[in-house]
Amino acid sequence: MRPASLEEHVALSRYTTLGTGGPARWFAAPETLDELLELLAWAAAEDVPVAAVGLGSNLLVADEGFDGLALKLKGELASAEAVGERLVAGGGAPLAVCLHRARAAGLGGLEFACAIPGTIGGAVWMNAGAYGGDMAGVLERALVASARGAEWRTPAELGLSYRRSGLRAGEVVARAELRLRPRPVEEIKATVAEMQGRRKAAQPTNKRTFGSVFKNPEHELSAGRMLEACGLRGHAIGGATISPKHANFIENLGDARSADAVALIAEARRRALEGFGVRLEPEVQLLGEIAIPPFPDGT
Ligand SMILES: Cc1cc2nc3c(=O)[nH]c(=O)nc-3n(C[C@H](O)[C@H](O)[C@H](O)COP(=O)(O)OP(=O)(O)OC[C@H]3O[C@@H](n4cnc5c(N)ncnc54)[C@H](O)[C@@H]3O)c2cc1C
Repeated sequence: MRPASLEEHVALSRYTTLGTGGPARWFAAPETLDELLELLAWAAAEDVPVAAVGLGSNLLVADEGFDGLALKLKGELASAEAVGERLVAGGGAPLAVCLHRARAAGLGGLEFACAIPGTIGGAVWMNAGAYGGDMAGVLERALVASARGAEWRTPAELGLSYRRSGLRAGEVVARAELRLRPRPVEEIKATVAEMQGRRKAAQPTNKRTFGSVFKNPEHELSAGRMLEACGLRGHAIGGATISPKHANFIENLGDARSADAVALIAEARRRALEGFGVRLEPEVQLLGEIAIPPFPDGT
């Protein structure tokens, strides 16, 4: 039976930090594990592809939209609380809320997440990290829901490595337990302030971006430095531009389309290959009929 909470043709642009992309054919915001499982079972029965949307901070949605079911976790699937030395959070809980709860409970270890504007679920999917920390370092286990049901997985079972996991389409992180350690609140605050200060100095803030466009290559130069050396800072296509402040970011100038961002990604990869012989790998996740064009040599 069709779940009552299903909505149709919901714009996803307002669910992404870049603010681009078309509608989801189906959309729902489950608040409990049972609701989530019901939606996943319905999608499997109807052969509808599924994707969770966190805070959309690493997501590029096709301008034509997503011909599937987009799930935005809410309610108890987005809550967070400290229990002893653990932080127990729904997959939809914003990292900022998790960090706040951890700090209030005098638990350290999640400070690295202070400048990552995503959710716990998105952070597990991406193995998000910064300043030497990442999800793999704090995650004890995650409850993964799919059409087959829900099961707890350890970081090893989740296959976490640099900015990736082995999670597959249709698998949704419903809940996660992080193992933290006692730390004085003042120390947590000082670390967070220092990390946020470094971030503000180096990266665009108050701009619509989706974080790092490319993973850092195995090269002495970071992706940002390499693209800067290619002269790409401020290079614009349509309504999107490579950030004048940090070349591994793309900013929405106001009326960007996802296609503009894709064109910039293709141009940046072409220039890095030409200038440095390096094939940059996108970090951003794609949703819908959207693809990064191959390199000029067809690969
Ligand atoms: C200004 C800025 C700074 C950033 N800095 C960093 C940084 O320092 N380090 C870093 O690692 N990232 C950074 N990012 C990128 C981004 O914040 C992270 O990748 C984050 O983990 C994405 O989380 P999200 O909830 O927004 O996921 P989304 O962008 O919504 O989705 C990303 C992927 O995760 C999947 N997903 C989302 N929720 C779930 C779930 N519950 N279950 C299963 N899959 C899910 C989506 O389907 C998609 O494939 C930055 C982004 C911005 C805009």
